[in-house]
Amino acid sequence: MRLIIPISLSLLALPAVLAFNTLRLPALPDAAPAHDLATIDEAAAAARLAEAVRIPTISTGADPASDPAALAAFADLLASRYPNAHRVMTRERIGDGSLLFTWRGRDTTLKPVLLLAHIDVVPVEPGTEARWTHPAFAGVIANGYIWGRGTLDDKLNVTGLMEAAEALAAQGWQPPRSLLFAFGHDEEVGGSGAKAIAATLKQRGIRAAFLLDEGGALTTGIMPGVSRPVATIMAAEKGYASFRLTATAAGGHSSQPPPDTAVTRLARALVRLQDQPLPARLAAPVDVMLERAAPAMGLVNRVAIANRWLFEGLLIKLLAAQPVSNALVRTTTAPTMLRAGVKDNVLPAEASAVINFRLLPGDSAKAVEAHIRKAIADDGIAITLDGGFASEASAVSDPDSAAFRQLAEVTRSVFPDAVVTTGLMLGATDARHYEGLYDNRYNFMPVILNAEDLQRIHGANERIAVADYAKLIRWYRRLLESLP
Ligand SMILES: [Zn+2]
Repeated sequence: MRLIIPISLSLLALPAVLAFNTLRLPALPDAAPAHDLATIDEAAAAARLAEAVRIPTISTGADPASDPAALAAFADLLASRYPNAHRVMTRERIGDGSLLFTWRGRDTTLKPVLLLAHIDVVPVEPGTEARWTHPAFAGVIANGYIWGRGTLDDKLNVTGLMEAAEALAAQGWQPPRSLLFAFGHDEEVGGSGAKAIAATLKQRGIRAAFLLDEGGALTTGIMPGVSRPVATIMAAEKGYASFRLTATAAGGHSSQPPPDTAVTRLARALVRLQDQPLPARLAAPVDVMLERAAPAMGLVNRVAIANRWLFEGLLIKLLAAQPVSNALVRTTTAPTMLRAGVKDNVLPAEASAVINFRLLPGDSAKAVEAHIRKAIADDGIAITLDGGFASEASAVSDPDSAAFRQLAEVTRSVFPDAVVTTGLMLGATDARHYEGLYDNRYNFMPVILNAEDLQRIHGANERIAVADYAKLIRWYRRLLESLP
C-alpha cells in the first residue's frame, strides 16, 4: 500500500514535468533583424556561373579521372572573371588541378578559416540526356534558373565564394584573419586533390578555426511537421566500412549435394545479420538536431523531444521506421555484392558477400566486426574488411561553438524564416581529408532545396534559381564580413 502512494504522486506530477520540459525548449529566435544585404548584379553573377557550367570538369572514375584541359580552362575562367580576388589572394595549383587561394588576414596570429568547394562534377548518366530540359553542359539561363551540372553540386560554391571575395576585394576590404579557399578537382572520385591540399596545409602547420564544406542545406518538406525551411549545419559525418563474409565448403558435383553448402551457409549468415541490425540510439549530433528543430514542430513532437528521458525509445522507433531517418539513428547494414559458383552443376567451394556499413559516430569498424561475428554465430565464416580499410565516423564538432553561432546568425540574416539546427551527414565530402586541420568542421550550403531539388543532385535537370544563387552570394559575403 505504501508503495502505491509515491507512484501515484509521481504520476500526478508527470504532466507538469512534461509541460515544464516542453516549455524549456529553446524558443525559435525571432526573425533576424534585417541587415543591409549586399546589392548584387544577379544577372551578371548568374552569367558567370553559367560560364563555369560550360567547362566540362567531369570526374569519370576512368583513367584519367579528369580532363586536365578542362581544369586549366576552369582556373583561367576564375582568373579572368574575378580579377580583384586574384589580385588580393595568392593562388596555388595543387595535385592535378586543385586550387588553393590564400587571402592574408590583418592579424596572422589568428587561426584562419578554411572554405571548401569542388570544381569537378559527375557525368550525365548515359541514356538520361533526353530528360534534361536544357543540356547539362550548355550553361543555359532560362525561366529564372541557371541550368546544368554543377549548379547545385558544387560549382555554385566555388563561384559563390569567388563572387563574395571579388566584391569585397574591389572595396579594398581585408579579412581580419586569413581565409583559405580550397577547391578540390576530383571530389566525386575520392578527392586526391583535397588530400594533396590537406598535406600542404599540414606541412605549413596550419590549423583553422573552422572548416566549411558542402553537405548540409536548407530543406523544405523533409523534416516531418516543419513547414519552415530547416537549415542543417552538419556537425559530423558517418563512417564507412565494407566487410566481406566468405563461406567455404568441399565443393564437388551437384548431383550428390551434402546437407549444407557454402551458399546456404552464407545465406543463413546474411539473414541473421539482416535480422539483427546494430542497435539504434540518439547519437550526437542527432539529439541536438531534434532539440533545435522541435520548437518548429507540432505539440506532440515537441513534448516527446523535450522529454527524451521518457520518450526516447518511442522517438527512436519512429525514426527507425523510415530508411532516411533510420540512417540517422544507427549504423546501417546493406548487403551489396554476392558471389559464388562458376557452373550450374558444380558446388562452389566458396561463397562470399560484401556488406556495406555506414558507421554512426561512436561505432567503430572494430565494433561492427564484433557485431557481425556475434550475429552470424558461425565461426566457419571468415570476416574480412573489404578493400583493406575502413573510414571511421568523423569527430562530432561543437554545435555551440562561436563559429557555429556565426554560421547560424548569417543564415538567419539571409533566410529570416529558417529554423537553424545541426545534423549528421550520411555521405562523405572532401572535408574528410582535412581531419586534424581545424577546431570545428561544418557542412552546409545556403540554398533552399525541396525533395525534388535533392533528386536533381547527380540526377537530371540540375539547376538553381538566379535569385537563390544571389542569396548564396549574399550569405558568403556576410559570412566573410562578419568573421571576427
Ligand atoms: Zn559535391
